[in-house]
Amino acid sequence: MNFDFIRRDINAQKAKSQYRQLVCNSAASKGKEIVINGKNYVNFSSNDYLGLNNHLEINKALQEGADKFGVCASSSSLVTGYHYAHQALEDDICQWLNKPKCLLFSSGFSANLALFQALGKSEQSHFYLDKLSHASMIDGAYHSKAIVKRFQHNNIEHLTELLNRSGKYSTGFSNKLVASEGVFSMDGCQAKVVELAQLAKSEQAWLYLDDAHSIGVIGKEGQGSNYFADIDITMATMGKAIGTSGAFLTCSEELYEYLVNFSRHYIYSTAISPAIAWATKKSIELIKKEHWRREKICELSVLFTKLLAENVELVTTESSIHAIIIGDEKKALNVSEQLKKQGIWLTAIRPPTVANNSSRLRVTICASHNDKDIRCLAECINKAIT
Ligand SMILES: *Cc1c(COP(=O)(O)O)cnc(C)c1O
Repeated sequence: MNFDFIRRDINAQKAKSQYRQLVCNSAASKGKEIVINGKNYVNFSSNDYLGLNNHLEINKALQEGADKFGVCASSSSLVTGYHYAHQALEDDICQWLNKPKCLLFSSGFSANLALFQALGKSEQSHFYLDKLSHASMIDGAYHSKAIVKRFQHNNIEHLTELLNRSGKYSTGFSNKLVASEGVFSMDGCQAKVVELAQLAKSEQAWLYLDDAHSIGVIGKEGQGSNYFADIDITMATMGKAIGTSGAFLTCSEELYEYLVNFSRHYIYSTAISPAIAWATKKSIELIKKEHWRREKICELSVLFTKLLAENVELVTTESSIHAIIIGDEKKALNVSEQLKKQGIWLTAIRPPTVANNSSRLRVTICASHNDKDIRCLAECINKAIT
């Protein structure tokens, strides 16, 4: 049969309890509620950390953006797709993160592919990636021509060793990029941003941080990793805490110029919707001034940690993401099913998204949750795990 690996691979996935299926959410996506097959749940798997999705003012800005500039950019940025809405959003982001330049992409996934492919032009480029880097960073890095090294998760000593070792073999010059996530997607812990920035600087490397889970949530005005140090290149998706869609990348004037001229992902892709760019401007305005959203996440996270039973294996973090490690795939699915019966939607995360035997519940605490939601969640988890 033609392409008979398709059926074979699907069956193997089922046998390993790694089979995945789409579920359709029929709620109006108002805050924390989710409706699956007609049943209501409190959603603890959403990345809408600040509870900004479906915000009245952002929706209004979207409508206004559509009326002013249209829903569609109608071509790539370099042809005629670059609108005032894009430019204004880029300017706001530059000001927010104190960066010279910003470039918009249709997704974080494509921004990562774009960056690694552009910088990985030849074998003279060396990428040093944290072991737990997102799939899109790994794909971008390995599909480039660069030499890729992975350092142990958040391990500065190991990274230093790798940087020193490759220095010895290089013929005098090399192009070095250290890459990590600002907040790691699957365990919620933060990168050692200040140490990474110092090390990169002393090794004449650039530091690249994927701030998908830091933007909006971390830093006084939600600036993410740039609140702690001046990061050479930052990428953040707008589809998580920002509550819209697309992604941005901040960098130097020169790298910006290079990407505009050479990045195939940028050049051969339609510019993001100008209406969404306009809505994103509004969202960032709210993120900067509404500190209560970040404070709420912290308060609820402290409460959650306090309420969990001792035998529950929680990874402690200061982000919105709280991983409870279960280990076995089947057991993780089983706990997730039990929670569903109690009206809690919490997806089990399994390999290959996480390492073998580290299946987990990835709890995301959002500004739209309240004390009662957290108490109920903790109680149900304690019951399901003992
Ligand atoms: C979600 C995510 C992305 C991808 O961003 P999209 O805009 O959803 O494509 C990239 N990196 C990390 C760490 C993410 O969590």
